[in-house]
Amino acid sequence: MTGGCRHDSGGDILGGTLWGGHSFNLVLELMSVPHEEEKLVNRVEIGLWQLELRAKKCVEALKKNGFGAAYLPGAAEVRERVLAECEKADSIGFGGSLSIAEMKIYEALAGSGKTLFDHGKVPPQEKPAARLGQLTCDLFLTGTNAVTLEGVLVNLDMNGNRTNAMTFGPKKTLVVAGGQKVVADVADAIRRIKTSVAPRNTKRLNLKTPCATSGFCEDCSSPQRICRVYSIIERKPPHSDITVLLCGEPLGL
Ligand code: SF4
Repeated sequence: MTGGCRHDSGGDILGGTLWGGHSFNLVLELMSVPHEEEKLVNRVEIGLWQLELRAKKCVEALKKNGFGAAYLPGAAEVRERVLAECEKADSIGFGGSLSIAEMKIYEALAGSGKTLFDHGKVPPQEKPAARLGQLTCDLFLTGTNAVTLEGVLVNLDMNGNRTNAMTFGPKKTLVVAGGQKVVADVADAIRRIKTSVAPRNTKRLNLKTPCATSGFCEDCSSPQRICRVYSIIERKPPHSDITVLLCGEPLGL
């Protein structure tokens, strides 16, 4: 136990001393276990505290920029809200978001009679139609690679179906984001995407890119390069209905 090691010198001196009927070492060990756990809990709590503050500040900025926006404390609340929006839609597009996939939204809707456009769920020959369907569906569900404290959505796409559908086409777009995606500004967002999100996504999707091996962006010319289309949405486009749900917990990458 780390707590025991920390007090080894004192234990050597006082090892034989009794403390309330226990050896000094045992008392220290008993004291150190909750202490270490407490520190871990504190780290998690502090992390969540910061996510909440940043997410709430971001929500206010998004509203100023014309987006619908709401803070929801946990993934369960986000899922509930997403499914409630799905109830109102006949056709639903999926932009390939890991956050949405982890909530099993597609699985919850399969068999509901709704038309679902998810290029990740169909054979290769049906993917183009699924991507096109996302552009004109009733409800488009997507994540975002980053969202700034100024209320700007920043994304990097391979084919542009996701970034296009986020800006124009679907009757409504719902953007789901874990609090860890809140960044200071657009430069910070692009840094986040290139150093963290893109290499992890290539690994997740099992693509043949250098970053999927090294973990670093190498500005590749790979045919499977996912970094092709940047989208920076500074204000809600006037003919689009976009709502961002910011979660107080980490979601997705
Ligand atoms: S440019 Fe290539 S190496 Fe860099 S993150 Fe994108 S896919 Fe990976």
